[in-house]
Amino acid sequence: MSADPARPVVRVRDLHKSFGEHEVLRGIDLDVQAGEVVCVIGPSGSGKSTLLRCVNLLEQPTSGSIELLGAEVTDPDVDIDRVRTHVGMVFQQFNLFSHKTVLENCTMAQRTVLRRSRAEAERVALANLERVGLAERPDAMPAQLSGGQQQRVAIARALSMDPQLMLFDEPTSALDPELVGDVLGVMRDLADGGMTMLVVTHEMAFAREVGDRVVFMDEGSVVETGPADQVIGAPREERTRTFLQRVL
Ligand code: ADP
Ligand code: MG
Repeated sequence: MSADPARPVVRVRDLHKSFGEHEVLRGIDLDVQAGEVVCVIGPSGSGKSTLLRCVNLLEQPTSGSIELLGAEVTDPDVDIDRVRTHVGMVFQQFNLFSHKTVLENCTMAQRTVLRRSRAEAERVALANLERVGLAERPDAMPAQLSGGQQQRVAIARALSMDPQLMLFDEPTSALDPELVGDVLGVMRDLADGGMTMLVVTHEMAFAREVGDRVVFMDEGSVVETGPADQVIGAPREERTRTFLQRVL
């Protein structure tokens, strides 16, 4: 599956999601173009994670449409697993397999999902561990690594699947402050390399410098979206200004 460059990699239209009576997403529209880095900011509880989980098909939308790599994923005839193979996701909690080595964490899905040989999977994994600055620790267990190193393993694991889109949900929020920079540096390198990325983050400096566009969400709606410099540097909406005053 290769993305049509004329079509957005992600195209969300009028997305609604409710949990029981609680409407968490209230009609979201969002596009991410190939090679674009879109950062989603907003207060806790505004629906950012739910949006990402809908895009990655971890949550079933209540209504609306989501096109991913040209496939309408809300269409029951679409092979969801095949689409999902091309999307990497990195969570706040690194979600590594604790009883597997770093290398095994990065080769398992390659072998089971992509059916790569052990040698090929290890070659790809080591190249991606090198990319995140951890090539010297393939035999370590996750618990032997710092949080920042574990998160970089999680990124290498996702990259080893050759994703066409990377989703990040607050990848640095669980890290000690001194470890945040290394992870953001890896994400910045990915962005510079042309990766298409949708990033939920509280790191406003990162969003401003690395993001092509910023989306500000509040109470399940997109309040404001635009070039990163404009939304963060000169927000148009009062709610965006209030949020930024609190976090900057
Ligand atoms: P954010 O990531 O912006 O902090 P979330 O998307 O995690 O926001 O949550 C938005 C709202 O949806 C919150 O009120 C949260 O409690 C609720 N919510 C999220 N997931 C579930 C779920 N699985 N069941 C019920 N409520 C949920
Ligand atoms: Mg969240």
